[in-house]
Amino acid sequence: MEQVKALFMEHFQAPDVSEPYLEKIFSAEEIKLGAAVAPSETFTKEDIAEILGSQADVDSFIADAYRHGVISYADETMSLFQLNNFYDSLDIFAVSRQEEYRALPKEGQKAMADWAFDTFYNRLNPDLSVRPGADVILPLEETLQFIDRRRGQRVYLNYCDCKSLNGQCGKPTHVCITFNDGINSFVHRGLSEELTIEEAKQVVMDADKAGLMHTVNGSTICNCCDDCCYLFRSQKRRGSAGFWPKTEHIIHWDGTKCVHCGLCTRRCMFHVFTKSGDRISVDTTDCVGCGICATACPKGALELIPR
Ligand code: SF4
Ligand code: SF4
Repeated sequence: MEQVKALFMEHFQAPDVSEPYLEKIFSAEEIKLGAAVAPSETFTKEDIAEILGSQADVDSFIADAYRHGVISYADETMSLFQLNNFYDSLDIFAVSRQEEYRALPKEGQKAMADWAFDTFYNRLNPDLSVRPGADVILPLEETLQFIDRRRGQRVYLNYCDCKSLNGQCGKPTHVCITFNDGINSFVHRGLSEELTIEEAKQVVMDADKAGLMHTVNGSTICNCCDDCCYLFRSQKRRGSAGFWPKTEHIIHWDGTKCVHCGLCTRRCMFHVFTKSGDRISVDTTDCVGCGICATACPKGALELIPR
């Protein structure tokens, strides 16, 4: 078994930190398949049957291994498979087998989640003068308009993979909106729930109420926080607040309306507001224009303005 496991780790590009937990994350059959096929090799259902042996229920294995991100379809014909890799499958594991992931020792979860984030970060364009993605932070109203413009398309609700991997913050995790249901997507793997446009807008409004920021990228709306979200964690490491993820807004504070209740100090994740005694002070240097302070301010003292 040790040799099979070593081959699986090599083919699945599994990091050393995952080694103590592999049998808890993957079934014995998944490890056996991963050990038998090379990373770029394509294989058929018949190949899987031959590798697993005559006792295996191949259809049920394929359904599980696809849902859990161990294998992917190689093309649109859906007749050829490919082995996935540890990086691409870890968040699918955290989403699709949440109880098993949460049952892993905390230090194991942290080590694998940290490894996954570092891997994501190291794949970003290292040139800090270039935005490494098309991510745009939108205030609530513009996020709702973005959804409205997608009327006629199918829309889905997913568990947020960042928060599922790192989610110790207690904020809602069932908040990710996507419009992509192609092969190998969360939707196609059976991990998503279809929504109406109005339901999708309600998810975003509830996420805003819960203090989550909205970031849009093509066919995804991420509702997340600064301590879990790969984008905001990367932004912090790159020192790119205000540049990437892109923002077109900055907060404007009207001191004549403010009653110094301090609510905004608890909403803002970028320390724009500081409460000292019974007064707040404002420094917009690190403001990313998310607007979640403005939607909570009881006196209308906060307004997003063009950056
Ligand atoms: S939430 Fe509004 S009223 Fe309360 S301290 Fe902040 S700006 Fe002032
Ligand atoms: S000040 Fe408001 S808009 Fe700016 S980052 Fe903080 S919560 Fe977001």
